[in-house]
Amino acid sequence: MELHLYNSLSRQLEPFRPIDPAGRRVLFYTCGPTVYDYAHIGNFRSFLNADVLRRTLELLGFEVRQVMNMTDVGHMTEDDRADGGGEDKMAVAQMRLSEAKKSGRLPEGTDLDPNDPTAVAQFYIDAFLEDARRLGLRVVADADRDPAVMPRPTRYIAEMIALIRTLIDRGHAYVGADGVVYFDVQSFPAYGRLSGNTPDRVRSGEGGRVDAATQNLKRHPADFMLWKPDPRHVMRWPSPWGEGYPGWHLECSAMAIALLGAETGGVIDLHSGGEDNIFPHHECEIAQACGATGRTEFSRYWFHTRFLLVENEKMSKSRGNFFTVRDLVQRGASPAAIRLELIRTHYRSNANFTFQGVRDSQRQIDRWARLDDWLERHAAAPLPMPGAGPLEQAMAPFTRALCDDLNIAGAVAALNEAAGAWPVDRAPDAGAGPRTFADERRALRRMDSVLGVLDLSRDAAPEEGGDAARIESLIRDRIAARAAKAWQRADAIRDELLAMGVEIKDGPEGTTWRRVLSATPSP
Ligand code: AMP
Ligand code: ZN
Repeated sequence: MELHLYNSLSRQLEPFRPIDPAGRRVLFYTCGPTVYDYAHIGNFRSFLNADVLRRTLELLGFEVRQVMNMTDVGHMTEDDRADGGGEDKMAVAQMRLSEAKKSGRLPEGTDLDPNDPTAVAQFYIDAFLEDARRLGLRVVADADRDPAVMPRPTRYIAEMIALIRTLIDRGHAYVGADGVVYFDVQSFPAYGRLSGNTPDRVRSGEGGRVDAATQNLKRHPADFMLWKPDPRHVMRWPSPWGEGYPGWHLECSAMAIALLGAETGGVIDLHSGGEDNIFPHHECEIAQACGATGRTEFSRYWFHTRFLLVENEKMSKSRGNFFTVRDLVQRGASPAAIRLELIRTHYRSNANFTFQGVRDSQRQIDRWARLDDWLERHAAAPLPMPGAGPLEQAMAPFTRALCDDLNIAGAVAALNEAAGAWPVDRAPDAGAGPRTFADERRALRRMDSVLGVLDLSRDAAPEEGGDAARIESLIRDRIAARAAKAWQRADAIRDELLAMGVEIKDGPEGTTWRRVLSATPSP
């Protein structure tokens, strides 16, 4: 089966065929987080959709080399402007953390020095990796083996300087009246092909915001910054154009070429990001990469995820609907449910994150986990039907749906239709095979290799269980209190557990507990 993917560059569905002559290896660059704060679930929607695409490619037999950067310098607050503007987001993080430190509100368990930008970046990198691992991003597992698959730009300054030199040599870049090195968009006729924001549209003010302050210093208002000399910037390096820092767009081009394009003349197969990355970020990445390599293509396919809304509203701190993965876990959501909730809407539609949706996702995962257990229990038993069982047969429609531009809802429907054939609350009918329930379980697991929730739901308890030991200990205290007829104390413990998002149940086999999702944070 062949994957058909919507390519934002051609604005149509295209059969996916990699550059590799053997048709196996896929070179995939994902624009990662800027590590100046905790990543929010909108960011994770974009990373998770990239992960589902990668897993789909792997299901189809491709060998995916995915690189995802973690931006630790040069991403400016006004990145919707063609040439950037505002402040470096890392400096914003430093200010925020200095304030927090003064009022004793630094993130728990840290003695972070806000004056040290490397330490600030490292703090949020660690947090990001923890969240990404919880949500099962495969690129993080790769990074455990080879850290270069999750590069930080501050370690690729030499590559960026070399890229700028090449662009200047090839007549695509120049030093402006302010000493800043700019990309010359008029030297690259394809500028605007991805976003529609051609130099003419930018000049007329229709294509993105224009920075009035730099207007007269550049050849064209759409020219964007590659290197900015600035002896006061949070982080700076020596360069032929003075001590300063690289532009955010340049970073991704340089790292993608260095880490993925070595054998292909700087061309990659696939590039992903959120819809807001199309302009200016990806438009500029293409101009730089093609300008430097002399090729007409940078990435053959461009994959963009539409924005996530929360309870039908744009996420924002002031609306109080701005969630991180850790916020949701604190409110009792399992990482598996968060993952499913963030991937189950088609990537080219806005998704709407709701607490009810997380509950539904959890119920869905519980049903699959129950089926998985049941199939395992009966693994050795022959199937009651001749030939392949329903789950094995569902592999074809499941894969076909994903091959149709990642129709995840169609894939889940194919899985559920097959799953419904098995009576998980009783023993299966006797059969003669030749297939066994182990074959059915293998098919379920193969479908889950794309959805990625079953193992997460199994691993979650010990991993997220920073508080599991405390929960168990409170339950023991409560049992002791009840035995001593200290009812008030027992009730107080129950309330304390509830505040932690944990519900307990007393049954004939003792006290059991489960996490419940609350829409308000536990104190
Ligand atoms: P940043 O950390 O700002 O560099 O963003 C990281 C990624 O998250 C980028 O690919 C953005 O396009 C993406 N992104 C930001 N907000 C959202 C959102 N609400 N929904 C989906 N993706 C988003
Ligand atoms: Zn990028």
